[in-house]
Amino acid sequence: GKGAAMVTAVAYRLASQHAERQRILDTLRLSRAQLLEVKQRMSEAIMRGLSKQTHEQASVKMLPTYVRSTPDGTEHGDFLALDLGGSSFRVLLVRVRSGKKHNVEMHQKIYNVPQETMQGTGEELFSHIVDSISDFLEYMGMKGASLPLGFTFSFPCHQSKLDQGILLRWTKGFKASGCVGQDVVTLLKDAVRRRREFDLNFVAVVNDTVGTMMTCGYEDPKCEVGLIVGTGTNVCYMEEMQNIELVEGDNGRMCVNMEWGAFGDIGELDDFCTQFDRIVDDCSNNPTKQRYEKMISGMYLGEIVRNVLIDFTTKGLLFRGKMSERLKTRGIFETKFLSQIERDSLAMRQVRTILQHLGLTKSTCDDSVLVKEVCTVVARRAAQLCGAGLAAVVDKIRQNRNLNQLSITVGVDGTLYKTHPHFSSVMQETLKDLAPQCQVTFHKSEDGSGKGAALITAVACRVKSGGQD
Ligand code: BGC
Ligand code: MG
Repeated sequence: GKGAAMVTAVAYRLASQHAERQRILDTLRLSRAQLLEVKQRMSEAIMRGLSKQTHEQASVKMLPTYVRSTPDGTEHGDFLALDLGGSSFRVLLVRVRSGKKHNVEMHQKIYNVPQETMQGTGEELFSHIVDSISDFLEYMGMKGASLPLGFTFSFPCHQSKLDQGILLRWTKGFKASGCVGQDVVTLLKDAVRRRREFDLNFVAVVNDTVGTMMTCGYEDPKCEVGLIVGTGTNVCYMEEMQNIELVEGDNGRMCVNMEWGAFGDIGELDDFCTQFDRIVDDCSNNPTKQRYEKMISGMYLGEIVRNVLIDFTTKGLLFRGKMSERLKTRGIFETKFLSQIERDSLAMRQVRTILQHLGLTKSTCDDSVLVKEVCTVVARRAAQLCGAGLAAVVDKIRQNRNLNQLSITVGVDGTLYKTHPHFSSVMQETLKDLAPQCQVTFHKSEDGSGKGAALITAVACRVKSGGQD
């Protein structure tokens, strides 16, 4: 009868809406074959970055860091470290003690870098950094002491020695003017000079991945890779000097800062990108740049989710087609929501609270389930992409050493990696599947970027002062 026909019509509509949602989500799901392809293209990108002939056009820059030796426990002294480019800006005093119980003691203060300063002039940014150093020295009662300083600067820099770094591009939320093409040590020295209050003794410019690797290496000598999955993403690892064509010399190894976030910038990821990735890229500070980073790291995952939710709502597939103003606001879907939503036990309550925060007060249970599914799919893809990239890296190291099996440790840091309930397990699963000849151990680094900068500074001082290397 009529009733049955209506029930059938409703059931049909629900089924076709469900299929439509899944069709859209499928564009964000990667097959094993696609992940293998990502690994393969990453391997090729690595070769292009290392080779002199192709370096210029390469997306993944494979930057030499001039870090060659890892700490051996004989380092000693007090060091200052700066950490800029992660989720907070910090100044640290690091006391490194040698001997049987070699250890590291740290004091730090976190300083705010306002959005206006990140995106103002370089002079403002570096003056702000120097103000913070001055405050820290005051606070520690150390004005006047000229300690060796390591600067963790988590952006792509061209280095031709340890204590120099020419900024190639800003990434993440930074875009202070007048800095690209400049040596960041000079910019900081100029700011110190302008203040005419104290002197600094610069020893090293360090990427956060390198600091993380070094910190883990202090405890585990098998740690030869550093990985960050936080606001941005990147990897460094120990490469054979003979493969680093940009640096003279064929002996031993040097740590290479891959800057893998730029993978995809010459089209390597075009066939995996969705309409959502393209919108997130278009609306970012740096359109067409850092395409891999924009599919993986904390600064962007929430934006991908938000754009999927907008699309669903527009098509009447979510929130009964009712768009909230808040949902249209860039940045409203913070990445920490992704982690909260996926903490299983609390999930539905968490989702409700978060949806309320987004101004979606009238969401149904079905809506919550769907929002959670979107978060799962987006985070899973990020973790798989990251695992596929890492598979290329560890296999490269294995082949460098002519090994059938490689056992290696990766030092990791970054808020997304550390707080998301599934990111690390999905990433490791993917890695195991795509690089079966490598046994990879992950070691979460505590405070890698600050401590690491100090350790690198300490190693450099040890080598300079004639200690054996
Ligand atoms: C930067 C890298 C950095 C990474 C993690 C990226 O945006 O380009 O230098 O290591 O973020 O902080
Ligand atoms: Mg060489």
